[in-house]
Amino acid sequence: MSIERVLVAEPRGFCAGVDMAIKALTWMTRIFDGPVYCYHEIVHNEWVVKAFEGVGVVFVNHIDEVPEGAPVMLSAHGSAPEVVAGAAARAAVVIDAVCPLVTKVHHEVKRMARDGFEIIYVGHEGHDEAVGTVAEAPSAIRLVEPETGLGEYAPADPAKVALLAQTTLGVHEWMAVMDDAQVRFPDLAMSRKSDLCYATTNRQEAVKQLAEECDLVLVVGSHNSSNTQALVRVARDHGVTAHRIDSADDIDASWLEDVSVVGLTAGASAPDHLVQEVIDRLAPTSGFELWSAIEEQEYFPLPPQLRSFVTTLQNLVEAGVTARHPGKDGWLQRDREWTATEALDVVSA
Ligand code: SF4
Repeated sequence: MSIERVLVAEPRGFCAGVDMAIKALTWMTRIFDGPVYCYHEIVHNEWVVKAFEGVGVVFVNHIDEVPEGAPVMLSAHGSAPEVVAGAAARAAVVIDAVCPLVTKVHHEVKRMARDGFEIIYVGHEGHDEAVGTVAEAPSAIRLVEPETGLGEYAPADPAKVALLAQTTLGVHEWMAVMDDAQVRFPDLAMSRKSDLCYATTNRQEAVKQLAEECDLVLVVGSHNSSNTQALVRVARDHGVTAHRIDSADDIDASWLEDVSVVGLTAGASAPDHLVQEVIDRLAPTSGFELWSAIEEQEYFPLPPQLRSFVTTLQNLVEAGVTARHPGKDGWLQRDREWTATEALDVVSA
């Protein structure tokens, strides 16, 4: 086997929501006496979860596994209202690292349920984001898998139907359900823009372009990462063989037979050093090139509850117990420049 070139998609890997959540959990491990608890995997990536476990973070699937008085973080995927309430009732400190784009969908669910709509929610049954979103108004929501579509769905009032979605679906799968729903329910209510987030759509656009240039596409990301799986499906739908891998070790030599150009991308929760390791393993004879489809500038600040802890810590460190000089920049003001990759370097040092 000899790979000639590797085309590396841009954008790929960490999105603004994942970046924020990883940095937030890194701060938690620095500020609080361990163990810090985290409800659900902070992001759906095996390497990231193991790195945090290595510094004593305990991931739980039920909020009542958090001991009374412990600090707890809620994951980027968004949590059900009863989980948020349960965390507040037992934990000393609760930091909610939900991505603001997931929060937006939670608000839409509540508003549409309040306005009497029956909501079709397109998402994956059992995925953390879908579980948290459906729990906002379970009696008003019907979960529909993107692969199976609306089927025989018949609402009580076809004039009062709304359509919402998990943020990380395949764009083409979501559009198929939307097109069907719009034909069947002409008064269909939707959010002004699709609920699919910028990171999902941008990464899929990049892999779509890559698919036309490559013999094989590799997508770095974990099995339970919805947007990673969507990237694999998008590449396949555009006519190229594609595989998901957690790391370079998952590459099967047989995949590379008769392959000259490999396209490489990563789901929104996959660290970039794993992408670099794949390039090293493939050892392309003509090197690698960046395939730049779209530029991303998004940045999400740390959760508000955490910002006040960081400010307090900053004041104490910089000025003893007196207040920081007004207007002087500190960690919080420099957060935009601090990346999740650097945060993970701290965690895994
Ligand atoms: S994939 Fe989208 S919705 Fe999910 S954390 Fe990233 S930006 Fe937020």
